[in-house]
Amino acid sequence: MEQPLITILPDHVANQIAAGEVVQRPESVVKELVENALDAGAQRISVMIREGGKALIHVLDDGCGMSRADLELALVRHATSKIRTLDDLRRLQSLGFRGEALAAIASVADVEILTRRSTDDYGWRLVSQPLKSRQIEPTECPSGTQVIVRNLFFNVPARRKFLRTDATELRYISETMLRYGLSYPDRCWTFHDGSGVVFQLEQQSLLERIAALFGGEFTSQLIPVDSHNEQVRIEGYLGLPSVARTTKASQYLFLNHRPIINRALSHAIYQGYEHMLEKSEHPFYVLFLWIDPEMVDVNVHPQKHEVKFEDERMMYHAVLEAVLQSMRAHDLIPQLRIRQAEVTAPLVTVQSQGSNEPLIVNRITGEVIGTSPTPQPNKTLPSAPRMHTERARWQPSGQPLSQLLEPMPPAIQQTLPTPSMQSRLWQIHDKYILVQTDDGIMIVDQHIAHERILYERALDAFERATGSRTQRLMFPVEMPLDARLRAIYHELEPELQQLGYECRLLSDRDAVEIRAVPVEIRLGTEADSLREILEQFAEYQTIRPASVRDNLAASFACRAAIKAGERLVLAQMQQLVEELLRCRTPEVCPHGRPVLIHFPLRELDRRFGRTS
Ligand code: ADP
Ligand code: MG
Repeated sequence: MEQPLITILPDHVANQIAAGEVVQRPESVVKELVENALDAGAQRISVMIREGGKALIHVLDDGCGMSRADLELALVRHATSKIRTLDDLRRLQSLGFRGEALAAIASVADVEILTRRSTDDYGWRLVSQPLKSRQIEPTECPSGTQVIVRNLFFNVPARRKFLRTDATELRYISETMLRYGLSYPDRCWTFHDGSGVVFQLEQQSLLERIAALFGGEFTSQLIPVDSHNEQVRIEGYLGLPSVARTTKASQYLFLNHRPIINRALSHAIYQGYEHMLEKSEHPFYVLFLWIDPEMVDVNVHPQKHEVKFEDERMMYHAVLEAVLQSMRAHDLIPQLRIRQAEVTAPLVTVQSQGSNEPLIVNRITGEVIGTSPTPQPNKTLPSAPRMHTERARWQPSGQPLSQLLEPMPPAIQQTLPTPSMQSRLWQIHDKYILVQTDDGIMIVDQHIAHERILYERALDAFERATGSRTQRLMFPVEMPLDARLRAIYHELEPELQQLGYECRLLSDRDAVEIRAVPVEIRLGTEADSLREILEQFAEYQTIRPASVRDNLAASFACRAAIKAGERLVLAQMQQLVEELLRCRTPEVCPHGRPVLIHFPLRELDRRFGRTS
């Protein structure tokens, strides 16, 4: 029988691919290990890192521990004690459930686990190195679990190179530790960064915890929130306008303990503050939402920061109402009312997640009036955070081609090579992708293909046919602007926003602050790529007789696309080809160069003198 072309990826390859989604940087390891400790019911959790987590991450808990049999399974992919059926996922109470984290971490780092159940006399020690067989031996250790991760990404140089400096990686980790510290004031936390103790927290109330983490004097500037309806309970604290910040860094939103990002809900909170803050001011808040796990889907993102609510509108309204209620109770609303008189149009539209129809919201009462078929210009709210219809997405290694695919239209499915295309793709010379099609082979230029995809996506974003996909930066990046770039930037500002950029000109120095970038932009290249896009645009304006939008779409596509010389994993190639075939004009790039060449089998047969 003929050798099949399809092979099943060995576990270590599958794990490394998964690691791209689950483990992007040391911070993701800390997050996963801390979540495991919390899921294990730990009361005390200690985290110690060295060299920004690159050299060492050590998480110690006093949770339930593992038996030898469980320890053996813990590092296996899709091994989890947290769910057994899809039904369990609907009722999920734990933070983890994918059973991927330990397997992924163990594929890109040395891992040691010490664990003991409180009922056992002695514990177990597991030592694992990528590609080597694992050893387990009995050991003495305190009850609970310690996971020690060393030399993260030592076997994936490309990923290691992608990491930032130790100080920056430490900052990411600190941010995560702060979030979990806030989310679980009833647990004791110790965080050591290799040079000293960053914080040591005993069991506290939320207010005490906020005082411990942000400073005691701060708590006098907070007002409590506590409100509920039948479906959701909202509690926590809002900062008074006097402690508003210049960035969004001090905003903490938790859903059933899980730190989340949700644009619609953050918009609801800003709505509550409307007219109390300047454009450049951002409220401080720590808010907990408690809802029935069945009403939310956390399985839309491998890192689980993004969640999808069954009833987005109800959530929006409930959060806005909770904020307004607590402001009313603290006499902040009268001030709000007086200023409200200046407002001309009380209705704003809000693009809710997962729905194409923007909601129309009365900004005074917070009432959702209805839906609007076309987005209305939102002139009265220049500083409000922009909303996008965002699809679930994952991001292997911060690489661009990472959005989950929409189901393909049937017409295109027919032109697709074969259902098992996955196994019929090869990258050659890190530049071209070879695809076996139903009736021949196709050679695709990876850079030009991606350029085509991004070009059409950008045009769609300008036409508002699709929402643009944005990634918010945890720490805004500054890009210096000279007079010329400043002029170009001014010209393109609205379109850049539509592409997914969120920028602010800094008037005190010649620079622009980048707060969010389109998902295709690699983290770490925000400033460089924006400068290149502006430069490229200027060049196109002089050589291409096209509209401003067209030229911007082309320069964005050119600069954000993967380059020749970049090695792609199978999933990326597959996605690239599938997305290309979904383009309106997949054959040519925005400059008219061919994107793909197709050799029909007929042609090959002819050349080889085959007559059948
Ligand atoms: P998940 O958390 O999604 O189940 P992980 O790969 O993070 O997947 O962990 C796999 C399993 O290992 C968990 O389901 C749990 O049974 C066990 N485990 C991991 N960390 C701990 C810990 N700190 N204490 C006890 N058990 C743990
Ligand atoms: Mg886990």
